[in-house]
Amino acid sequence: MSNKHYKRIVLKLSGEAMAGDDKIGINPITVKKIAEEIKEAYETGVQISVIVGGGNIWRGKAASELGMERASADYMGMLATVMNALALQNALESCGVQTRAMTSISMQAVAEPYIRRRAVRHLEKGRIVIFGGGTGNPYFSTDTTAALRAAEVNADAILMAKNGVDGIYDSDPNLNPNAKKFDKLTFLDVVQKDLKVMDSTAATLCMENDIELILFNMNQEGNIKRAIEGQKIGTTVKGR
Ligand code: UDP
Repeated sequence: MSNKHYKRIVLKLSGEAMAGDDKIGINPITVKKIAEEIKEAYETGVQISVIVGGGNIWRGKAASELGMERASADYMGMLATVMNALALQNALESCGVQTRAMTSISMQAVAEPYIRRRAVRHLEKGRIVIFGGGTGNPYFSTDTTAALRAAEVNADAILMAKNGVDGIYDSDPNLNPNAKKFDKLTFLDVVQKDLKVMDSTAATLCMENDIELILFNMNQEGNIKRAIEGQKIGTTVKGR
């Protein structure tokens, strides 16, 4: 029997998740483990789309701070997310899950172009849709992409899987042993308290479109499924 709490979700994975202990690049063994977890969650019957970041390969802002033109550096970041999307697609398909990779920057030899109605159709047919290429625009992030796509495909929630962080804290728990973890927050809290959860563009988009966010630790096995089942893990951000 399925225990699903949501009908349709967007899973946001940071690029870092793809690197495993290597910290940079793509580790196929790590990617396979992520794919197995996604498959386990998918078997509850929920419709899943995935946004992958690119920070394991390239960060536009960091490169621009070293003198590169920001827009070009950001386009490179978007291309990095496509590499991650293809790696994840490959791993999911090798687990026997049907997928479609869609990119916001057209590269039809490797993935379908992003067309909202087609993406929704894929989800209805039970395919996992992987969105590569971010929003397709420089100066944005893959967190904003997650919020945008969640609004577009009418997802109930964004599941934000973090590496080594089990929720949202009032300060960095790695630096402050007394950091306080929140169970629930509003998007206004996130923006006003300047909590380092997602950028403010992404938070505002979620707030205005009534999208719920669950932030949880990716390093604990089975957490994607737990979040889908509505179990109390991590921090939930909702409303204003
Ligand atoms: N990026 C962009 N527009 C987008 C999404 C991403 O320009 O809509 C670029 C940006 O340079 C960013 C890089 O892609 O640094 C990787 O994405 P992000 O930093 O969000 O990945 P994550 O931190 O989740 O690994």
